[in-house]
Amino acid sequence: MARILITGGAGFIGSHLADRLLSDGHSVIALDNLFTSKARNIGHLAGHERFKFIRHDVTEYIYIEDKPDAILHLASLPSPVDYLREPIKTLKVGALGTHKALGLARAHGAKFLLASTSEVYGDPQVHPQPESYWGNVNPIGPRGVYDESKRFAEAMTMAYHRYHGIDTRIVRIFNTYGPRMRPDDGRVVTNFIAQGLRGEPMTVYDDGMRTRSFCYVSDLVDGIVRLLESSEVDPVNLGNPREMTVLEFAKTVQRLTGGTSEIKFVSPKDERTKDDPYKRQPDISRARRILGWEPKVSLEDGLRHTIDYFRELFATEGR
Ligand code: NAD
Ligand code: UDP
Repeated sequence: MARILITGGAGFIGSHLADRLLSDGHSVIALDNLFTSKARNIGHLAGHERFKFIRHDVTEYIYIEDKPDAILHLASLPSPVDYLREPIKTLKVGALGTHKALGLARAHGAKFLLASTSEVYGDPQVHPQPESYWGNVNPIGPRGVYDESKRFAEAMTMAYHRYHGIDTRIVRIFNTYGPRMRPDDGRVVTNFIAQGLRGEPMTVYDDGMRTRSFCYVSDLVDGIVRLLESSEVDPVNLGNPREMTVLEFAKTVQRLTGGTSEIKFVSPKDERTKDDPYKRQPDISRARRILGWEPKVSLEDGLRHTIDYFRELFATEGR
């Protein structure tokens, strides 16, 4: 049994990781400033004897009484609408926050796992994307604040590994979805589900021909736990290789939410789609080989669970 600290532990992925680690018998400390999430994500864990929540900004000095055995660093502003609105906070959490979290790992001799992203590949010129691809990021574009902060975080993680001998892991997460996403996070999954459930038009940007590959959160969490338990220091992609256009995705959500929404092609006037990757699909050969990992949940099943969650949430909140 280990004591595991999760920065961003009240977030979408962080709260699912907390559930899984607790059910595996570990103790979990969730550290989060609730900047992009709601405490309701971890409300069900209040009073759990092996769970603790600390409200704290990871970019400030972190003091922890209980020595952690591992630190999973997830704190970030990962949704495009958040990082376009808060570019400096995004850079700070990726840079200063990662430095503080690594410093904490060093002080306690803890294992460290960085939640990185497929955005390190930018608008990729190699398809599908293997870990060996160095990427195509525009450092001064609107997405650069997120992409470069994660690229810096990877460099910092490797520097702590090489220079301080910290036992580190880097997971490059591709688009992941599931219950507890923030309904107004502006991502394609939440936008389409909310629009579908409200019978509003589904806002497909431009011609809808960009592609993404969507992974259900329980599959991702299983991969992260396997990576943590492995000895792999080099980055590992985790995502679902089933690729589709945004338009195909809209039609799937349209069907599963009742089919009353129409599809509307829109071209946002702001910078939302600037440098928006045209194609994205993870090459997961490495995760298959090293972790014996493979996503199991089909898009339709995953979307049904997620839609049920949002239907209930909207009913309770009257939206
Ligand atoms: P999320 O927004 O639900 O979770 C991020 C959490 O970090 C939030 O709870 C937020 O309040 C917290 N946070 C932000 N700034 C903080 C700060 N300064 N101090 C403390 N806490 C802070 O997002 P998520 O989708 O769960 O993402 C979790 C991680 O996975 C992120 O690092 C993200 O970059 C990575 N990731 C996610 C996806 C995805 O599709 N969901 C894809 C690639 C990478
Ligand atoms: N998108 C869309 N309509 C929306 C929201 C997003 O067509 O209402 C597109 C967006 O331009 C991108 C893809 O869906 O090509 C995925 O966007 P998301 O914000 O979910 O995350 P990204 O993968 O770009 O980080």
